[in-house]
Amino acid sequence: MTGRAAPKSTVCRATFMALVKVSRALVDQGKGGRKLWPKRKPRSDAKTPAGPDPGAPSFNVRAPAFLVAGNHLRCWKCSGNTAVYALVVAPPFDHRDGARQWEPGTSLAVLAYIESLPERIADHLKLTAPRYFRDASQWHRRPYWMNHCEYCGAKIGDAETIESAIAPLNTERFQPANVKLSHVPQPFEALATLHNCSDQVSVEA
Ligand SMILES: [Zn+2]
Repeated sequence: MTGRAAPKSTVCRATFMALVKVSRALVDQGKGGRKLWPKRKPRSDAKTPAGPDPGAPSFNVRAPAFLVAGNHLRCWKCSGNTAVYALVVAPPFDHRDGARQWEPGTSLAVLAYIESLPERIADHLKLTAPRYFRDASQWHRRPYWMNHCEYCGAKIGDAETIESAIAPLNTERFQPANVKLSHVPQPFEALATLHNCSDQVSVEA
């Protein structure tokens, strides 16, 4: 990372330079549905999205543009090699924790457990990633935008696509050989959990 702030208009070109370590292990995630990720902590500090309560923010991330990241995953249910997606923001973007002040994001961030999106972003996703839509989650306890298998329709949660160490959209795997990125030059807002890429990953403007 450099300390120089990039101008808004030049950022988010969908090219990454990555120096992260590559795990070559191909893992069959379809075996017996066993969980390959650690148990999540309860989200005691999370706010309910889109409520009329003025103290509860609808969004905790905002950016002048965003990226749709795509990769593939073996479905836990039917073993089909299905496309999976996640939304990504790159500096310049702002984020905040609860009702605190907005702060500038300093590294690329993958958004997990997106509970709230503007309607126009949801409409964009219906066209570009129709199997990535808001759905109920027993584990997360609230609906969020998640992937669904393109063959059997099974829910594929963000733990499996983003948070597991072997997940196809884990920040450690963000390099051009693994992850396809589509730049969407539209103002972006979301209520989500941010997973920052390590300092070893940077975006070429
Ligand atoms: Zn499937």
